[in-house]
Amino acid sequence: MKPVVAILGRPNVGKSTLFNRLTGRRSALVDPTPGVTRDRREGDAYLGRLRFTVVDTAGLEDAPATKVESEMQAQTKRALADADVALLLFDARAGVTPLDRHFADLVRRASTPIILVANKCESRAANAGLMEAYELGLGEPIAIASEHGIGMPDL
Ligand code: GDP
Repeated sequence: MKPVVAILGRPNVGKSTLFNRLTGRRSALVDPTPGVTRDRREGDAYLGRLRFTVVDTAGLEDAPATKVESEMQAQTKRALADADVALLLFDARAGVTPLDRHFADLVRRASTPIILVANKCESRAANAGLMEAYELGLGEPIAIASEHGIGMPDL
């Protein structure tokens, strides 16, 4: 069985874009049923010589605001339990937000190995956010830009 890699992180950090990059898909899947919160998307991923199943925990964008936090926790815990490795993605241009910290706290307690991934690192606008990320206590962030395919060998 192929290893399972989950992509975690708050909305808009680029999880779907990374999913599409890893699976070779160029456009995001859209749930055909309005109002249905997508829990996860799975695909066959290729990264250099590595082959794995990638899971994108998307869909919180569609959840009612009052339920986002509890839904996020439940979804993240489910994904962590099923994954061999989790990528915690954040937007390095936006810097570390309170929601990113919340995610970091959640994943730090899990036994699943975590790789901290700084997305949107195609320009110098990401440098401050990249430095800030060390305070999350998840080690060195891997700088990538999933939209441009930058940093994939490091990942
Ligand atoms: P998700 O909500 O975490 O799944 O994030 P999406 O994949 O939908 O991306 C959110 C926004 O960030 C979109 O407008 C993407 O085009 C943009 N984005 C994703 N990756 C990058 C990147 O590497 N650089 C920049 N500048 N924008 C990106």
